[in-house]
Amino acid sequence: MLEIVRIPVLSDNYIWLVHEPVSKETMVVDPAIAEPVLEEADRRGWKITQIWNTHWHPDHTGGNAAIQEATGCHITGPEAEKERIPTLDTMVQEGDTARLGDVAADVIDVPAHTAGHIAFHFPTEKTVFVGDTLFAMGCGRLFEGTAAQMFDNMQRLSKLPSDTKVYCAHEYTQANGEYALVAEPDNQALKDRMDAVLAARAKGEATVPTTIGEEQATNPFMRAASVDELAERRIAKDNF
Ligand code: ZN
Ligand code: FE
Repeated sequence: MLEIVRIPVLSDNYIWLVHEPVSKETMVVDPAIAEPVLEEADRRGWKITQIWNTHWHPDHTGGNAAIQEATGCHITGPEAEKERIPTLDTMVQEGDTARLGDVAADVIDVPAHTAGHIAFHFPTEKTVFVGDTLFAMGCGRLFEGTAAQMFDNMQRLSKLPSDTKVYCAHEYTQANGEYALVAEPDNQALKDRMDAVLAARAKGEATVPTTIGEEQATNPFMRAASVDELAERRIAKDNF
């Protein structure tokens, strides 16, 4: 059973600190910066042994070098982005397995936000780390890929068990939901969810992780019926 701790940093990033109690390994997903991560691990008496990166953007890898220098940890990330993440020790891609102690994650290729973006799915934990590919009621911007790729990503992620917990890398939920209500004004599940999100945000609470099931019901990008519909919605959101 993994213990997962949310570390909010910068304006809206979440770094995930993941502890596997049997092996006592501790892993960091997408460290934008180092200091709050080292402090949180210290406070819990956890020794960081690994970093896993979903993509090369600096707000996901900026803490790699300093955390590695402080802990000697091993860094795993996307094969297709190795030139842009010089701190990588192990390169992985679709079909590979990443391990934290005895717990294994399947690597899933989800290109589009960046060309080599990957996700880490722990089937036995019903947990997936999706970086900037899938957000609560949203998806990542198409910086290095196409709407067709993002459509495939959404379709693949939507086939994970609906109670799978989705750990994304940003608190974008409220802004995503405001656009989602424009895309699907008659979606009652979406309206109910937005009420809950607004209440949570008013209290300063986080709205991540989400679940695959919640996204199936309310995410206008996962719910897009075609590549064209996803493309239209992505452009509309970019200009919202
Ligand atoms: Zn990004
Ligand atoms: Fe990001």
